[in-house]
Amino acid sequence: MTKLADIKGITKPVLSGLHKLGIHDVQGLLLHMPLRYVDETHISEVRELRMGEQAQVEGEIIHLEVSYKPRKSLIARLSDGTGDIFLRFLNFYPSQIAALKEGTRVRALGEVRHGYFGYEMVHPQTRAVRETTAVKQTLTPVYPTTAGLSQPSIRKWVTWALNNGDVSETLPKETYAKQTPSFQASLQYLHNPPPEANLQAMENRSNLEWRRLAFDELISQQLSMRQHYAKRRELGAPVLKLSTNLIPQLLSTLPFGLTGAQQRVVKEISQDLSRPYPMQRLLQGDVGSGKTIVAMLAALQAIENGYQAAIMAPTEILAEQHYQKMLHWLAPLDIQVAWLSGSQGKKDRTASLAAIASGDARLAIGTHALFQAQVQFNQLGLVVVDEQHRFGVEQRLSLRQKGQSDEVSAPHQLMMSATPIPRTLSMSYFADLDVSVIDELPPGRTPIATKLVSDARRDEIVERVRAACSQGAQAYWVCPLIEESEVLQLQTALDTFEHLQQTFPDLRVGLVHGRMKSAEKQSVMAEFSAGDIQLLVATTVIEVGVDVPNASLMVIEHAERMGLSQLHQLRGRVGRGAAKSACILIYQTPLSETARARLKIIYESSDGFEIAQADLHLRGPGEFLGIRQSGTPMLKIADLERDADLLEQAQAVADELLKRHPVEAQKHLDRWLSRGDELVKV
Ligand code: ADP
Ligand code: MG
Repeated sequence: MTKLADIKGITKPVLSGLHKLGIHDVQGLLLHMPLRYVDETHISEVRELRMGEQAQVEGEIIHLEVSYKPRKSLIARLSDGTGDIFLRFLNFYPSQIAALKEGTRVRALGEVRHGYFGYEMVHPQTRAVRETTAVKQTLTPVYPTTAGLSQPSIRKWVTWALNNGDVSETLPKETYAKQTPSFQASLQYLHNPPPEANLQAMENRSNLEWRRLAFDELISQQLSMRQHYAKRRELGAPVLKLSTNLIPQLLSTLPFGLTGAQQRVVKEISQDLSRPYPMQRLLQGDVGSGKTIVAMLAALQAIENGYQAAIMAPTEILAEQHYQKMLHWLAPLDIQVAWLSGSQGKKDRTASLAAIASGDARLAIGTHALFQAQVQFNQLGLVVVDEQHRFGVEQRLSLRQKGQSDEVSAPHQLMMSATPIPRTLSMSYFADLDVSVIDELPPGRTPIATKLVSDARRDEIVERVRAACSQGAQAYWVCPLIEESEVLQLQTALDTFEHLQQTFPDLRVGLVHGRMKSAEKQSVMAEFSAGDIQLLVATTVIEVGVDVPNASLMVIEHAERMGLSQLHQLRGRVGRGAAKSACILIYQTPLSETARARLKIIYESSDGFEIAQADLHLRGPGEFLGIRQSGTPMLKIADLERDADLLEQAQAVADELLKRHPVEAQKHLDRWLSRGDELVKV
């Protein structure tokens, strides 16, 4: 394949610009798609311009000056005979002054706004024209670019690639609908739109040409996921036979019986564990559905077979809670458990590391600390990752490598998530995982009443907390998320704590936040669990997993700042016992459009799947993947909502390709992966 560096005319700066954009070969150029299009196909009269519209005008510059009001700018007044409009430039070069001198005939393209002097365009694209200069016939593509690489230059090289690159079809005729335009025709259309192309369809990517590329992209993702899946099956894993001893023993001492859904997923997992290749299973279940016991049982199957298990959680509070709970469950079984966290003392840590390395500890529970270099397992057979979306892909991979004694085997992996993953996501980004779902809550839960209360009615909330706590209930008071500053967030928590202590002199008020030492956190949580603290002021550190069944009231401040899944998680901290529970969302007015939409959804729905679907709609897939830490690339063209119908077809086509046209399948993958990215590895 032609390297970019070998193409005549590509200079060093152009080459380095292209590399920065992730373009490394001709295929990459071909698939470098426009971000949007501008319509230079007609010229508007100034008098018909409307505020906010993107428009092109043409006329004579009748005045040019450098003005210092309101700040230094170059201001050209353009008249087309029907009216005047100002073109304003904040940073400008001498060459621009020359190009806009009085008397020049200019075409300007930009957004129409109300300016200091009247209608204006700020930083419009301008060019000198003669009376005879023809108007463009087609939409002009605008590409993602980087400093030093101009639009015309990118356009030129994309066009070069269209003429010289490999645009042959990878999909065999019978695998795609006849009416679908070919790969080549689609690229041609999108890079060089014909006169009839509709701006709106081009921009919202709804025409057949965009859809064809989205389809191809989805197929490539499916192919890549299937390859991963197949590759993993070539690895070996310990065969963990069904437990006949430990699991029945534990179940006989539990104060509850498993729900039907729990039994089903336990069976699915246990079958996976008995196979000679590594399990990669995602366990989904709404908050409170009882995933922890399922993880415990999986760990016991590994332990009974002579292997170790590791359970990793994203926060210390949660990991600690698992540790306490599992210690308690395992007490009658005489199984040694090791605890590992970043903040534990040196002595404890050394002891834990030694127990894990010698194999005395059969189960290791902890935070990220579990996959640091010093941790050596004796014989790791199973890794459980709780709240998987909180971890980056890299982190999950590095824990898996812990159990890898050689290149050809890996431990079993169970990932758990309380944020349900919408169907379209699990069909795409999670397609290389097997999925189990706990779709049933343990019996006896009472629904949580959700209330939206404006900040102005704080007094009522205070009364409500007082009433609940005086009747023996416990409550959480969650402080607002302040994303910009951890210090500010801490300050807010401290202020709230102090204020609530004064407000409720008769109650024991506790405080837990992310900056506390882990021993302090543990002791506060323990007091809250034991009922010694009645009102717990907390930052969002309690978001995941915390389980105190007697707590039945949740107050969340500045709920408008929080994401949907986060609100759902927080709300899920109550409603765990038999008492009637409530969640009060305090919001500050005025509400933005999105905040209003979010609050409406959380108010109306308590179904995690529905909420997750809405979250996907509002925020895109990033939040679900933990990709912010890992830099996992996203689908660039396909949109899981808009192109949901294509997803199912893409699955079918990918299967078909692999089965019947492996050569084309590989070609298709190579083409799409050459964009300089790899698709998700889990
Ligand atoms: P999550 O799925 O959110 O991690 P947990 O595992 O923390 O949920 O379980 C929530 C609570 O429900 C815990 O107190 C747990 O002991 C309890 N629980 C789990 N399974 C059952 C069951 N089958 N019947 C009754 N209570 C259960
Ligand atoms: Mg949990």
